[in-house]
Amino acid sequence: PRLANQIAAGEVVERPASVVKELVENSLDAGANRIELDIEKGGHKRIKLRDNGSGIAKHELELALSRHATSKISTLDDLEQILSLGFRGEALASISAVSRLTLTSKPAAQEQAWQACCEGRDMAVQVQPAAHPDGTTIDVMDIFYNTPARRKFLRTEKTEYQHIEEVIKRIALSRPDVTFVLRHNGKVTKRFAGSNDLAVRVGQVCGQKFVQQAIHTQCDYASIKLEAWLGDARQLRSSNDCQYSFVNGRGMRDKLILHALRQAYDSVLGSAEQPAFVVYLTIDPREVDVNVHPAKHEVRFQQGRLVHDFICKTVCDALSESSD
Ligand code: ADP
Ligand code: MG
Repeated sequence: PRLANQIAAGEVVERPASVVKELVENSLDAGANRIELDIEKGGHKRIKLRDNGSGIAKHELELALSRHATSKISTLDDLEQILSLGFRGEALASISAVSRLTLTSKPAAQEQAWQACCEGRDMAVQVQPAAHPDGTTIDVMDIFYNTPARRKFLRTEKTEYQHIEEVIKRIALSRPDVTFVLRHNGKVTKRFAGSNDLAVRVGQVCGQKFVQQAIHTQCDYASIKLEAWLGDARQLRSSNDCQYSFVNGRGMRDKLILHALRQAYDSVLGSAEQPAFVVYLTIDPREVDVNVHPAKHEVRFQQGRLVHDFICKTVCDALSESSD
């Protein structure tokens, strides 16, 4: 199974940032509202996550590290309205196949924390008592140490770290209520305190200048709702682009959404403008298929044309109102 896991790992674990994404999504699924990440050397050396979520019971630790061990789908109905972020049940197994992974956890109802790690040639799971508050810590060391071909594809520490930061920003924008602390080589690099105010989170992630100068708009049409901060690149602190879109709380780089935004910006401001935006689309989950390309962040809308035109018109109206 180890080889199978390593092959599967290729799909899930592309680089340190993809590990971070899977781990953080698991923490959110577990109801955590505080997530701390310690990254060493761009994740090459270490990716350590600690959360205050529901934890993993002792007897489920070993299971959590095996393939197709998702605790998240119980009926077919669930599949149709996927609300939790993870549903494949192979992220942890895949990550542990290509790294030295230690899982430490304590559900509130369990007196003692337990720790699991894979050891020896057969990578048997060892479980031992540990000290840990309620929640989970996952420590991923030496990613790709046993898959040299893949290790060669790792970029510099700086580049890999930037990818990690991007993942955290994107997820943080989808969950303003959750506190995120990100450290790199022992220094705090990002700290987003959780609150229920989306504007506060947009400011934390994209900068105060952006959130103050961007146009904030909200619009409803039938079962679709759009909330957006629309600005341009000059309002950003750095040269990083800021183009974030979310569908029902999931980060998306969907072509249809991006096209609608581009078209609106072009028609109101002209194509010289470098758009910067944070866009939240909420739609009845039955009218959207999120499983088309989970990795590519694409969705399929039942009524694509309508969604496209709704976004385009809402953004056009907001941009032209403010430029009058
Ligand atoms: P999936 O998320 O697709 O179910 P994963 O391999 O990512 O599969 O995780 C396997 C299982 O381990 C999850 O279904 C969950 O039960 C458990 N798990 C993983 N991370 C956490 C966490 N941070 N807190 C609580 N449970 C977790
Ligand atoms: Mg998962």
